[in-house]
Amino acid sequence: MEGTIWLCMDCQEEFYEPHDKCPDCGENMSPDAKVPAGAIYGVYQIRTTCQRCGQPMPLNGPLREVDCKACGNTSHFPPEQWKSLLEDLVEEYDEFGWSDSRGSTLMSGASTFKNTYGRQVPHCPDCHKVLPAFDIPVGDNRDLTCRKCGMLVPTSPAPEWLVEVLPSARQLYGAEREAGSAPTGSVEAEVSEAARPVVMQCPQCGGALKVTVESDRLVPCEYCNVDVYLPDDVWRRLHPVKTTDRWMIRFEGNPRRLRDEKTPEDEDTEGDDLSPGSTPARWLVPLLLAMAALAAGLFFLFFANNSR
Ligand SMILES: [Zn+2]
Ligand SMILES: [Zn+2]
Ligand SMILES: [Zn+2]
Ligand SMILES: [Zn+2]
Repeated sequence: MEGTIWLCMDCQEEFYEPHDKCPDCGENMSPDAKVPAGAIYGVYQIRTTCQRCGQPMPLNGPLREVDCKACGNTSHFPPEQWKSLLEDLVEEYDEFGWSDSRGSTLMSGASTFKNTYGRQVPHCPDCHKVLPAFDIPVGDNRDLTCRKCGMLVPTSPAPEWLVEVLPSARQLYGAEREAGSAPTGSVEAEVSEAARPVVMQCPQCGGALKVTVESDRLVPCEYCNVDVYLPDDVWRRLHPVKTTDRWMIRFEGNPRRLRDEKTPEDEDTEGDDLSPGSTPARWLVPLLLAMAALAAGLFFLFFANNSR
């Protein structure tokens, strides 16, 4: 098929026709491991800080609300911020080889985001093996099993609010789901150790205080009515510190067409991007060249007239 790319699952080299064995590394190649024409696969690793206490906060998926593991406060990340964070990859996609990545810093609203992004097919966040994700229909909401380490990696359709601001976004891999969007019939992933209630003694009266993941950092004692500030070890047990994980998105369409999705009002929000590595807009280059040529022409005419 025109534009299809076959990918070696081992060395991630790409080929424009199928091979039994990878011409590059010699491993067996699967005829299914083909990147559909026009599909754009991006990987992201994004962290920011809690909007209240400033502690590091990983954004392991496009999430509009994240609870701080340190102070319990909820930080908010509106769709427009997500658009700014994710769209650079789509715009710069042609400049990336597989597995290339780039870092940027985005300051937007009260938050600063450290974003590392690149062109990468869905792979296991743990062992980096390519995931069997090419055949699954866009829209599936389930777990993929890594064929190397067995890790379950969630995949789900891009949430509607994200598609509204980034119409080419299709499917997520390895991304944390927003509350309430788990696949039906499945168990919420993080019901484990941390979810079990902890019982501690009230430092004031010695009464039993039962705290759960739902508890605020200040828990009222039902016996003596004193507000008890939960000690760090109890709080951390209930809210284990999270690492910043990689997650992936599939976008649809060819990059050039995606770039044209930008509406004039998008350009207004570009000022938010303080990324040191961000490239000037593509249209600027020909424009500057044209202006330089015009200036040179006028210059020449001026001197030609004067010397006469
Ligand atoms: Zn290979
Ligand atoms: Zn916090
Ligand atoms: Zn794995
Ligand atoms: Zn008490």
